[in-house]
Formats: sequence, C-alpha cells, structure tokens
Amino acid sequence: MCNKVWALGVSGTKAAGTGGAPKLEQAGFMTIPSSLTVSRRGLLGAFAAVTVAAAPTYSNAFGLLRGAGDVRRIKMYSGRTGESMDTIYWVEGEYIPEVLKEINHFMRDWRTNEVKSMDARTVDIMAAAHSLMDVSEPYMLLSGYRCPKTNAMLRGKSSGVARNSLHLKGQAADLRLKSRSVGQMARAAEACAAGGVGRYSRSDFVHMDCGPVRHWGG
Ligand SMILES: [Zn+2]
Repeated sequence: MCNKVWALGVSGTKAAGTGGAPKLEQAGFMTIPSSLTVSRRGLLGAFAAVTVAAAPTYSNAFGLLRGAGDVRRIKMYSGRTGESMDTIYWVEGEYIPEVLKEINHFMRDWRTNEVKSMDARTVDIMAAAHSLMDVSEPYMLLSGYRCPKTNAMLRGKSSGVARNSLHLKGQAADLRLKSRSVGQMARAAEACAAGGVGRYSRSDFVHMDCGPVRHWGG
C-alpha cells in the first residue's frame, strides 16, 4: 500500500487509488523537507496561531499523512493575478483563521474579485496531494471560487463546466503542476479518497473538490 502511493510521484504506475484511504502512518513517511522555505509571513502566522474553537470542517485527506509533523502547508501561485502564497495554515489540530482568510482571498474569483470562504477540506486535499507527490513546485491555481456570473459565462463556452459546480460553493480548485502529469496529480488526489477528482488532460489541469468521492475525465 505504501509503495503504491509512493509510486504516485515517481514511477507513474496506474494505481487507481480508489480503494479507500491507504494507511501511511509508517514512521518517516512524510516529513516537511528542510529545503522547503516557509515564508516569514507563514511562520509568523503559525506562531501567532489563534486557535479556532471548533475546526470548521473535518477532512480525512490528512489521514494519509499522519506522522508528517503536525503542520499543513499550501504552496500555490496564480498566473491570473500574479500572486503567490507559501504558508502553513494548520498547526497541531487547529486551522489558523488569519491564514484561511488569506487563502480565501487568494482563491477568489479573479474575474470579479469576489471572495468566498473556501472549504478547508478542499485545501486539505490539495495540500495532502501535494505532499504525496513530493514536489517542491507550487501549484498553479487556474480556478478556485467562481461566482454565479462567472460560472454561467464559462458554461456558455465549455460543456465541461457544471451548472452546480462545486467552484460556486468554494469547494473546488483547478490546479496544474509543470513537473507532474495530469495522471500523477489525479492519482495523488484520488489516494486521499476525500472528494472528487477530474482529469483535464488536454487543458493540463486537475480539478479537486471535497464533494462525494468520484472521478472523471481522461
Ligand atoms: Zn474545476
């Protein structure tokens, strides 16, 4: 099981990854590489952590990464806005509200600048998949939240855009990595067994959401 998931990033095996969450608590599976730099802002956010009384959501995505050190980080940039972030957003069982707000702003509808609270489970899936791929490159975020107007506009252009897209609820993200294929990214996300995964090979991105576990595309 462990080898299967390890293989996601390196050998391109065609592991389906849909058979439930693999158990990866083995010691040493996941540590935060010291070579990764954490932004000063991210660290300040972490150490200034104001606790959230009740975590807004529960995610099983990080069940994969237990033993990883008790932090979760997200690293992404947007080709649309030119913004980037590399930050720890969860420390020892608590989401960091200020950082979640930054993530909401980062993942806003870039066409209209509307901001919506992103579902933290989606961020967890993104971060867990990123860790599984053992990649230092940040995600390129193509689409996070979409307001109804934007979604309707996109639906008019493409048959691949759903009327009730989870992007409208702040529960989905379309992501690209230069150093990983759509298949490798999708398998990493599917290994989380925590939501939907869509492969868009021709457009070179993967959709991840925290809705029901399902997958589509090729
Ligand atoms: Zn999408």
